[in-house]
Amino acid sequence: MNNQIYIHNTLKGEKELFKPIHEGQIGMYVCGPTVYSDVHLGNCRTFISFDMIYRYLIHAGYKVRYVRNITDAGHLEASLAGKNRLDQLEPMEIVQKYTVGFHDIMALFNNHPPSIEPAATGHIIEQIEIVKSILDKGLAYESNGSVYFDVEKFDKTENYGELSGRKIEDLISGTRDLDGQDEKRSPLDFALWKKASPSHIMRWPSPWGEGFPGWHLECTAMSTKYLGDNFDIHGGGMDLKFPHHECEVAQGKASTGKAPVNYWLHANMLTLNGQKMSKSTGNTILPGELFSGDNDIMDKAYHPMVVRFFMMQAHYRSILDFSSAALSASEKGFNKLMTAISDLDKLQAGESSSANIKEIVGGFYSAMNDDFNTPVLVARMFEAATEINKIKAGSASISKTDLDLLNKELKAFAFDVLGLKPVKSGGGNELDAAMDIVLELRKNAREQKDWTTSDLIRDKLSEAGIVVKDSAEGTNWSIN
Ligand code: AMP
Ligand code: ZN
Repeated sequence: MNNQIYIHNTLKGEKELFKPIHEGQIGMYVCGPTVYSDVHLGNCRTFISFDMIYRYLIHAGYKVRYVRNITDAGHLEASLAGKNRLDQLEPMEIVQKYTVGFHDIMALFNNHPPSIEPAATGHIIEQIEIVKSILDKGLAYESNGSVYFDVEKFDKTENYGELSGRKIEDLISGTRDLDGQDEKRSPLDFALWKKASPSHIMRWPSPWGEGFPGWHLECTAMSTKYLGDNFDIHGGGMDLKFPHHECEVAQGKASTGKAPVNYWLHANMLTLNGQKMSKSTGNTILPGELFSGDNDIMDKAYHPMVVRFFMMQAHYRSILDFSSAALSASEKGFNKLMTAISDLDKLQAGESSSANIKEIVGGFYSAMNDDFNTPVLVARMFEAATEINKIKAGSASISKTDLDLLNKELKAFAFDVLGLKPVKSGGGNELDAAMDIVLELRKNAREQKDWTTSDLIRDKLSEAGIVVKDSAEGTNWSIN
């Protein structure tokens, strides 16, 4: 392995040289979606970020086992009454619907499926076993059919808060005034197992009565089952750092005596109008609404590959704000890169190279080895594109060896590492020119109030997979 990859480890608060536990192999766990509703683009950003990381680790020569769970053991509350069995709410029907939808969206974004995709409901026995082991160590207690993790007792020998950088004294003072915590010894304690109320439909028998596992516990159970008590990488969105991941560290240490994870990676948030995209506030845009153009936020439809490229132009640890202007700029960049890549095959090699191609390609690796710095990688790829354009125009040259190197590496980084795919007839120059003519004709028709012709043009284009969208700024089009 000649690649030295530096990764920002939340546990240390800095970049560290990555050293896997087992040479050449990596175990990586990423918190997956809660499948009770559609995933929004914010969720997608986190999964795309970790897909890029997974892809680069593979490109760097590692054998990676990537585990991403499905959170399906949730908190659905409903009356069990129904006219008959098929009338009753069936959580697994909801789980199935949104899991299929999630997979469809991941495929549209060209995300690799993980190596294992375990579901929380398939690991109840493992979760109960972990609760038992934490109880045995005296670091949890039963209370009224629920089991809670004893945070303050754990903190006497370990450091609760080491991942998120919080201090237990501050946490205690921040929660002092909360009421309704009577089941717990301290408001900081979190549930490992919850007693199910009569209306709670997802429930399982346990040594403490009927109930369901705490959310943090499922990730501890599924990550350690498939990757071991101590594994290499755990990822998730920044918003999961506390309490979710902090509790995972505590549960792992309490049950096995080992720190569960060597490198904690946190991907930053996608924002819309400067606010975190979030289901609960309604500040979201769904992937389908973006691809079809059927939304009030964007000026036109965008292809999933353009959206992916847009996300790759930001570092995974930076906040990224979603806007029409930014996407439109990314669309141009994406087309420029794809055109350059398709031109590569048409280039003629000469005696020597006028630019340092090895240096440009080396830059692809150094960008990614520096905590997966995709914006720097993209900048280096644009340098390559500029060079390709010059060679094509005859104002620069390239040797056969350099052409082979650039051909191999530019394609590998665009397709294998960034996970981009060329878009079918993706807004090439000829199509752009033809569309300018068609939209000009439609504009003339509209000016003469010839709505039949203007609608006919729009509908026929739509049948051909081209979406036309009118807005105050003018008319835009995109390939569906
Ligand atoms: P959930 O289904 O809510 O558990 O979220 C699934 C993943 O999406 C988690 O890793 C979250 O951290 C992540 N996530 C939620 N909102 C955003 C956002 N606005 N931007 C990026 N990631 C997000
Ligand atoms: Zn998790």
